[in-house]
Amino acid sequence: LQFEVTILGSNGAIPAFNRHPTSQVVSYNGSNYLIDCGEGTQLQMSKYSVKRGKLDHIFISHLHGDHYFGLIGLLTSFNLNYRTTDLHLYGPHGLDEIMNVHFKYAETKLKYAIVYHELKADEPRIIYENRYFSVETIILKHRLPTTGFLFKEKQPLRRIITEKIAEYKIPQTRIFEIKHGEDFVTEQGITIANTELTREPNLPRSYAYCSDTIYLEEIVPQLKGVDLLYHESTFIDEHADRAAETFHSTARQAATIAKKADVQKLLLGHFSARYEDLSIILDESRRVFANSHLAIEGETFPVDIKKI
Ligand SMILES: [Zn+2]
Repeated sequence: LQFEVTILGSNGAIPAFNRHPTSQVVSYNGSNYLIDCGEGTQLQMSKYSVKRGKLDHIFISHLHGDHYFGLIGLLTSFNLNYRTTDLHLYGPHGLDEIMNVHFKYAETKLKYAIVYHELKADEPRIIYENRYFSVETIILKHRLPTTGFLFKEKQPLRRIITEKIAEYKIPQTRIFEIKHGEDFVTEQGITIANTELTREPNLPRSYAYCSDTIYLEEIVPQLKGVDLLYHESTFIDEHADRAAETFHSTARQAATIAKKADVQKLLLGHFSARYEDLSIILDESRRVFANSHLAIEGETFPVDIKKI
């Protein structure tokens, strides 16, 4: 199943050098899940062909404007496009009030319902779940209550060996049970063991999004073994004082979290407008954690399948 992350915005605070404020989209099996919605997100969605219609869940990490100033535009476009399906909006206390004030003075009557899910930044909670994966909050430490989001796949089913379907004339109606581990009895009454029909399932995959936060070792246990970790790296170590002052992280600190949590791959983002050339951020991170990458806008990062 498709499980990937497309970067729409990767800059912190101020748009600069053609980089937009934070936003990214997680695509899973044809559906999109938006994380943060900085200014310009809609245009970035158009530019990178992210379909608005396939979006029913939006997660906002905190109420600094560079993480949600694009939201009013996006919600209004849904309305102009005659959206009728519910939209689920996950975010801190106050987000509903901010949106409602706008709609009130714009005299907008929405044709669809917004279902608000207020997030508390006190302890990790599962905030969304479907048959394939769950989303839980990661409690971060920033100047405002802030949560990250952990997309965690459920245990996938066993993988059926396609040639066996024809070989034993397995009807479509039995495939689901076989994927769950059941044996199959042929028309002649012969039992075929499940192990002959299927392979071991893939390991569940996971994606963690951490922005914005000061260096925070407390999150390491929750991030253990994550396949793809996005961690903010607003500054380089030379500006560690500024990072501490503004409750942000340096590239070295992001890499240290990735290393301690033993993740597979690290994505760096939320870059300060003071750096035009981002190679200093990447180099600093790679010195601690080799598999580090910059969250470049328009790039899609698959959450890779771990094979047993
Ligand atoms: Zn912030």
